[in-house]
Amino acid sequence: MKTKTNKIALFIGRFQPFHNGHLYVLRNILKDYDKVKIVIGSSQEDYTEKNPLKSTERAEMLGRMLRQIGVKGDQFDLYEIPDISSNSIWPYYIEKKIGHFDAVVTASPLNTVLFEDSGYWVDEHSLFQRKKYSGTEIRRRILAGKDWDELVPASVFVYLQKMNIERRLVYISRTDNEYIN
Ligand code: NAP
Repeated sequence: MKTKTNKIALFIGRFQPFHNGHLYVLRNILKDYDKVKIVIGSSQEDYTEKNPLKSTERAEMLGRMLRQIGVKGDQFDLYEIPDISSNSIWPYYIEKKIGHFDAVVTASPLNTVLFEDSGYWVDEHSLFQRKKYSGTEIRRRILAGKDWDELVPASVFVYLQKMNIERRLVYISRTDNEYIN
């Protein structure tokens, strides 16, 4: 049996939306760690093509999904955190906001170098079936009216359908507002 070498993992993402690639990583984290602190990054971003969901919606989507897959309340915490102008301060800023964590679980090269250079333990993971599970691809499919239900957990699909994510993406894509990209 694999022993738990660490207790609290930090898992950062934009989750636009949360998909089965993220879920694969999350399940592994829950096997290896006692608790996961999930940071919803770029919380200041919403209603853009890259970041259509508000941070409160992303928190709701994640909370529903975690409950649906049976994760207990004491196994996770959710935080909505905006970007800051300094990359080098980012790891300390995160720790100040969320408190202690033992390892950062990430596939992001930027987060890896930032946290490692600041003395944090990084547990690097590879992206799971990247071509299939990608936020960009899911947003593209929603906009094109193509099937995307198999790419996300069932609760995420129900939640995003209910809030009419397709309508939001269509309207965002029609605008020529300079803030949208
Ligand atoms: P990200 O945009 O969340 O992820 C980067 C890429 O990795 C995306 O294409 C993402 O795909 C993919 N990815 C990440 N985890 C994945 C997983 N488990 N499975 C499949 N694909 C995965 O950005 P990030 O570099 O990881 O950073 C996370 C958050 O930290 C962002 O909000 C970023 O702005 C923030 N950050 C802020 C600062 C700062 O404020 N100075 C510095 C560093 C990072 P999907 O689109 O499919 O998720």
